[in-house]
Amino acid sequence: MEQQDQLFEKLREAIERYAPYADETRIRKAYDFAARRHENQKRKSGEPYIIHPVAVAELIAEIGLDTDAIVAALLHDCLEDTVTSYQEIASEFGEAVAQLVEGVTKLTRVEYSTLEEQQMENLRKMFLAMSKDIRVILIKICDRLHNMRTMQYQTPEKQRSKSMETMEIYAPLAHRLGMQKIKWELEDHALQYIDPESYRTIEAYLEAHKDEAEAFMAEIQSALEERLASVGITCTIYGRIKHIYSIYRKMQMQGKTIEELYDLYAFRVLVDSIPDCYNVLGHIHNLFTPVPGRFKDYISTPKPNMYQSLHTTVIGKRGIPFEVQIRTWDMHQTAEYGVAAHWKYKDGIQSNGNEKEFEWVRRLLESQQDTEAEDYIHSLKVDMFDDEVFVFTPRGKVISLPAGSTPIDFAYAIHSAVGNAMVGAKINNRIAGYDAVLKNGDIVEILTSKNAKGPSRDWLNICKSNQARIKIKQWYKKERREENIARGKISLEAELRRLGISPDVLRSEELRATVLKKLAFEELDELYAAIGYGGITAYKAVARIKDDLAKAEKSSEKPADQVLPLRLPEKPTSAKVFSNSGVIVEDISSCMVKFARCCTPVPGDDIVGFITKGFGVSVHRRDCPNAKGASDPTQAGRWVSVAWASTGTEAFATSLEIDAEDRDGLLLDVATVMTTLKIRVTELASRSLPDGKAVVSITFEVKSLDDLEAVRTKIRNLSGVVDVKRGHV
Ligand code: MN
Repeated sequence: MEQQDQLFEKLREAIERYAPYADETRIRKAYDFAARRHENQKRKSGEPYIIHPVAVAELIAEIGLDTDAIVAALLHDCLEDTVTSYQEIASEFGEAVAQLVEGVTKLTRVEYSTLEEQQMENLRKMFLAMSKDIRVILIKICDRLHNMRTMQYQTPEKQRSKSMETMEIYAPLAHRLGMQKIKWELEDHALQYIDPESYRTIEAYLEAHKDEAEAFMAEIQSALEERLASVGITCTIYGRIKHIYSIYRKMQMQGKTIEELYDLYAFRVLVDSIPDCYNVLGHIHNLFTPVPGRFKDYISTPKPNMYQSLHTTVIGKRGIPFEVQIRTWDMHQTAEYGVAAHWKYKDGIQSNGNEKEFEWVRRLLESQQDTEAEDYIHSLKVDMFDDEVFVFTPRGKVISLPAGSTPIDFAYAIHSAVGNAMVGAKINNRIAGYDAVLKNGDIVEILTSKNAKGPSRDWLNICKSNQARIKIKQWYKKERREENIARGKISLEAELRRLGISPDVLRSEELRATVLKKLAFEELDELYAAIGYGGITAYKAVARIKDDLAKAEKSSEKPADQVLPLRLPEKPTSAKVFSNSGVIVEDISSCMVKFARCCTPVPGDDIVGFITKGFGVSVHRRDCPNAKGASDPTQAGRWVSVAWASTGTEAFATSLEIDAEDRDGLLLDVATVMTTLKIRVTELASRSLPDGKAVVSITFEVKSLDDLEAVRTKIRNLSGVVDVKRGHV
């Protein structure tokens, strides 16, 4: 217990010093809570676990965050590593704290295995997007900082992988958030494990030249202090040797040894006002020789992360160059603690953590580059954050998608072949719907099958990304040309009928040419296909040509009642009247012939004629139930022999009834068959039956029984089709 009290005392001191406004009672309560929950847990070092959250809380206090953030830092591992629940934290410490802890926990749970360069930017973005509240990412960075400080207890593999992560994700984030001090420390710790040899070389060099360096810096410092005091400028001067990683990087980039390196030393002059900054600059340039091209004015043109300072490099005694940064104390706060400093100063002490306040931060973070002012202005206008979501493949690759994206978008982002073969999806290892909305950090897995039917048209309404939409449309365009033609034809004809125009007008070659030219298609099938896959709507297409069509129809001889209804009417109108043309009636040279609507015979069928009262001869198939009377002697006088006289040019209306399993796409498959066979369909309708079966009735025109049988065979081969019968009404 005594040890624990000492631990809290250290935290209390940090708070007193850096965050005196914080509520110590609440922090003590959180400390006790966390200490109890982590009671029997140990760090890899063998120390009690509570040391870690306390250290993180100290760092959070040090950067001046509010009570909620300090409390959340103390509790940050409770959800992940102890039995504590969200509700418990919420009721003990408030909803705001619970949300912070949950946010940190979510980041902790993000696992990624690839460290490919192009993935890093997405990972960093995802971290920021997931953080929602900027305090979450700050706690996470401090968590990582303490873990890096104590990395020596981990296995070499872990040291290396955590160091890579730190270098690739956490240090750049700290940089973007403007926290240079933390960034440097993270980088130096990481380098220690990533390139231990170089690290030790630089460290040894600096150590060996320590006295020399200190003497040099002391000399410069007193020269500066003396001059500035003599002109009455109040200032504080710090000298430092650049951090190891920055020396390392310079050596790498310039291909130099540390001895050849240009500047290892940096001074910082902190003053009270902006005019003083420029005054100091003048005096420094007067005392030492400035290196041309090294002066940068980040006061008049701040960096995107709000960093402000004057930078210059000058040559000191014995020709050794050194860098000087000149800034006000306010600017210094921002430079050291970046966003956190802004947070602290903006609302005084307590912040409500309102996301809106930090939108500017997000935009900056997102598009920050150490570049020119134009870019900065430009970047402010780009709001890339709210409309993106970052998710993982099962292998840890980060995929960026528009916000609101679904597994369909994800699948097509991976590859169009994945999307086209998709039969299901898992989000975080659970089966999810196609329309599930993806959240940052989700791990998404697409289930595929060789037997997948390809994208459904509904997907076009579900998916969010243009990429997916385009790829789905491409698929329809390519893979389903026949289906598209059938579908497009049906839509176009339906639209024509809606306007009272008979689709038959398109049979006129002349008119067809006019229409196609107007719509910029080479042939009718292409127009149908385009309508079928959604490249153009039937409504739009018809709107552009309806005047031509209407005109053409008016001038044609056809009576208006030729207009066919879209759906099968209750009383079929398919009984066509042929005047003697297709059938020879025994012993009768000229009479009215009509084809029975009950069995719709076609050339090749065995037929028989029935002499009706006043309507000539009605032709039935011999196997039609209504033709039973043909063999009834009492009716013998009314039945006559008939035969086909067709030359094969006339089309006859007939119908089929299809019994099938009720399944998606059945109707389309039937339509596709018809289009493939170039059969003109006049009616197509399906009806679901209660037992999972469906009946499709289709009316179409054929020239012969062979044609009809070809249709039957094709349809019978469709999946789910049980039987195909000739129509009997
Ligand atoms: Mn932790």
